[in-house]
Amino acid sequence: MGIPESIIQQIVTKIDFLELVGQYTSLQRMGDRYRGLCPFHQEKTPSFYVQPDKRLFYCFGCGKGGNVFQFLMEIEHLSFPEAVQRLAEKTGVRIDLYDEKSIERGKRQDALLQLLKRVAGSFHYILTHSPKGETALQYLRKRGLEDTIISKFQLGYAPPDPFWLKRFLETKNFSSEFLVESGLFTHRNPDRAFFVDRIMFPIHSAQGDVVAFGGRILSGEGPKYLNSAESALFKKGEILYGFYQAREEIRKTRTVVVAEGYMDVIALHQAGVGIAVAPLGTALTPAQVRLLKRFADRAILFFDQDEAGLGAMRKAAILCEQQELEPYAVQAEEYPYKDPADFVQNGQRGELQKIVKYPIPILEFLLKKTSVKKDSTSRQRNLLKVEDLFPYIESMVSEVRREAAITQIADFLELDRESIRKDFQRKQWIAAARRENQEEKKTETIQRTPELVLMILAMESRKNFEDIRSRIAIEDLEDPRGRELFITLEEMYREEEWSIDRVLQGISDKGLKEFVLSKLVSLEFKMNQERLLNDSVLFLKRRNLEKERQQVLKAIQRCEKTNQSEELFRLLEKKMYLDGELEKLRAVENE
Ligand SMILES: [Zn+2]
Repeated sequence: MGIPESIIQQIVTKIDFLELVGQYTSLQRMGDRYRGLCPFHQEKTPSFYVQPDKRLFYCFGCGKGGNVFQFLMEIEHLSFPEAVQRLAEKTGVRIDLYDEKSIERGKRQDALLQLLKRVAGSFHYILTHSPKGETALQYLRKRGLEDTIISKFQLGYAPPDPFWLKRFLETKNFSSEFLVESGLFTHRNPDRAFFVDRIMFPIHSAQGDVVAFGGRILSGEGPKYLNSAESALFKKGEILYGFYQAREEIRKTRTVVVAEGYMDVIALHQAGVGIAVAPLGTALTPAQVRLLKRFADRAILFFDQDEAGLGAMRKAAILCEQQELEPYAVQAEEYPYKDPADFVQNGQRGELQKIVKYPIPILEFLLKKTSVKKDSTSRQRNLLKVEDLFPYIESMVSEVRREAAITQIADFLELDRESIRKDFQRKQWIAAARRENQEEKKTETIQRTPELVLMILAMESRKNFEDIRSRIAIEDLEDPRGRELFITLEEMYREEEWSIDRVLQGISDKGLKEFVLSKLVSLEFKMNQERLLNDSVLFLKRRNLEKERQQVLKAIQRCEKTNQSEELFRLLEKKMYLDGELEKLRAVENE
């Protein structure tokens, strides 16, 4: 059982750790480390570190950390064997088959990805090369889309014969049960394709795998858009349509355009706006904004120019603001087109580009839609009240920004600043009181003992450990955590194999593991190692000598009472020896 250590090591040395992590968050170099926003928890200032030479990551915010396998397991919700298999494939390391369930599951997932990829390819082929796809292709051309963009997004067509897909896949030897799992068929109707006579939009994961489909009806009855059901591969709220295609552009420009639907994203890309994404038929989620925040600093919200669009925009703005992804809006009111797809269909690519190039801050946009009239009887369509802006103001993290926003509202609407501030604060207090109740959780902190300092230094280099073990023995260590680490390091040292990874694997105490990881990626232990090592060794020696001396002193007192002169003599000798050793230590310390 299990996967041989040699295979694990082969994978670890072959994998480009930075490149892998870089697919999930944008990393910046800081000396020999890299820093970015943590992909595991929500944060505004980066506390996620990667130490490429040790192939470790650690987040000071949420405490997640470990090696490349742990990273992949956490972020993709995989088991260890699944993660190993995934990386083995990536690096071309061969692992023989182990009949473990999880490997089976990993293989099943891979088979599913293969299937979806193949089906996406077939749909695309039908759209672009088969007479069956003619009508669909013409429809897309009418919408202003060119071949390059159709192939960039791998658009396809699911033919009208509902049994075609099953027949096609059966020739490829896929079982019925397996096909149902793919979302291409349903349990109720395992022979009938879920997508029939629809234009197909493959949905890619951030890594570029097809994980689901969206389908737009071409003729006949049914909902205009359909999505694959959620699965282990496909979590609607965590994926953004177009993100895979736009990621590099977003990273470069630190800007993203969030549109409403598939066609809008594709139209924007067709117009040369390669930074467009969209949620999958639902409202934007916090997880999606978190993903974007790792690559962008500002989000341009480009929603439909109607009342529903305005509402969605206000909600999205709050989510962005909460995570300090600065929200902007496009100014498109003066155009007769309702969404990006409309612009492209009408040959307005240049105009579309211009609109995205000059967005306005969201508050300015919302203010233009705000009525000063307090009573709602005269509310016009598309109009907000002043209070409608408060949730957005409240979502701002910076006090300065909030103050500026209140001033801006008052000035724009020609209202009294103080009264707006009071109105706002009244609501803010209620929210603040609610928040405070939730913020009470503390994690156990590991004490930084000299034992642990030494063991972390040992992990920094084999040479350090060699030095440490020549000067102190395991009995000198009081902290049981330090002892545990010492034993693992000693075992490794004797086997001539030095892998920090192995030490980390061996730590069962979660808190200790976090502590060690956080120190390994911090600068604290990078400088003055020699000095730190020396000081810690001396500290331990003195502490132990003094402890022993105290015990001897107590024993001497006992002997004096009971007149055991022989024993007393031995103890006094011992005390003198200890005093001498302490004297020597003091001399070394004062050097
Ligand atoms: Zn974190």
